[in-house]
Amino acid sequence: SLNERLSGLFDRLGGRGVLSEKDVDEALREVRVALLDADVALPVVRQFMTKARELAAGEAIIKAVKPADQVVKIVYDGLIDMLGGEEPTPIDLAAVPPAVILMAGLQGSGKTTTSAKLALRLSKFERKKVMMASLDTRRPAAMEQLKLLGEQVGVDVLPIIAGQSAVEITRRALQSAKLQGYDVLILDTAGRTTLDEALMAEAAEIATISNPIETFLVADSLTGQDAVRTAEAFHARLPLTGLILTRVDGDGRGGAMLSMRAVTGLPIKFTGSGEKVDALDVFDARRIAGRILGQGDVVALVEKAAQELDAAKAEQMAKKLSKGQFDLNDLADQLGQMKRMGGMTGIMGLLPGVQKVKKQMDEMNISDKMFDRQIAIISSMTKLERKKPDLLNASRKRRIAAGAGVDVAEINRLLKQHRQMADVFKMMARNGGKGMGNMAKM
Ligand code: GDP
Ligand code: MG
Repeated sequence: SLNERLSGLFDRLGGRGVLSEKDVDEALREVRVALLDADVALPVVRQFMTKARELAAGEAIIKAVKPADQVVKIVYDGLIDMLGGEEPTPIDLAAVPPAVILMAGLQGSGKTTTSAKLALRLSKFERKKVMMASLDTRRPAAMEQLKLLGEQVGVDVLPIIAGQSAVEITRRALQSAKLQGYDVLILDTAGRTTLDEALMAEAAEIATISNPIETFLVADSLTGQDAVRTAEAFHARLPLTGLILTRVDGDGRGGAMLSMRAVTGLPIKFTGSGEKVDALDVFDARRIAGRILGQGDVVALVEKAAQELDAAKAEQMAKKLSKGQFDLNDLADQLGQMKRMGGMTGIMGLLPGVQKVKKQMDEMNISDKMFDRQIAIISSMTKLERKKPDLLNASRKRRIAAGAGVDVAEINRLLKQHRQMADVFKMMARNGGKGMGNMAKM
């Protein structure tokens, strides 16, 4: 397993204080083999290696942190990035009701079960009025299955009328849901055993008629690389908006997920982890990355490494601040860290005696989105401008505003905020004398 491979390597790296480029290369070679073992598609592995190398190059080498932990963190961050980031993306139901959710996928992938799981979730947690309809005209048992599941989860199912085509049922379901004021209509399509052209065309037609707000491909994560090919084929024919991967309860490796996300570029929205109707989870990149790494405690490990990194950076920062130095580079650093560490409780809290500034910033009502924009603004500046914000005249500000996609007013706000912070730090440095420890006295 990757765990074993990395453990061996980490034992060797563990004794050393600093991570060299060669160490990173060696570790990434192990990671490459392990990813292939975990059933990740080759092009995806290649893409991952490029990304991980980039991350490794960008990662500050900090002596306080063990190299092994840094490698794990780099690989883990890379995996999360490839899995589409950490933030789960819930369903956006903002549409003129009924919001249609179309379920597509191969037969036996779990469409019908997942329809019921989603219906339960939306009706129970989001208090939506949900209707389901089975478009599976090929197997009468499939319609009956959805009806029974509907009863089980307490969600209405469009009454079955024998002899109607899938397109006819779709029209009837749309009309019925509209007339009866349903918020959400879940359409469970017919099963295909293979990538059958006629069925594919039918699904495409249903999508055109029903104009779904979400078109999910339901795929069995246990089928590995086949699932990846299936996803590609469906994506070519249907306007898919997301993936739902079932049977992750049996998938120890998680490679198919990584591949599917990377190959299709589609977000994984949910994972199914069992036959029961409540076995549906909002996709969590961190859990899957941990699973691919094959280390049960990888998340804890990574968090520890991240904390050590942040603590080490905080120490460096404290040293600079105690000399009264605080330029826009430092601000960008802080903004990034604060964002990563969950907002204002972040690095400011790590610096002794800076509670006051933290409170000030709280009062200025700084949000996560604002961090992103502010970081974008600072990234649009030249190195010199970041060091010497006084250089920023009107024309430079206009250039930066265009680069960051914001108003000049926002740049002025950022500069004002930076000035205020820098003033506080300068004052602290003057009054405190020997470093941040004395700041608390202020
Ligand atoms: P469909 O043909 O795509 O509609 O697939 P079904 O919803 O009928 O599911 C096929 C089988 O897979 C059923 O026995 C389900 O109980 C089972 N199943 C569906 N999702 C999961 C899952 O996440 N985990 C497990 N273990 N079984 C599942
Ligand atoms: Mg079915």
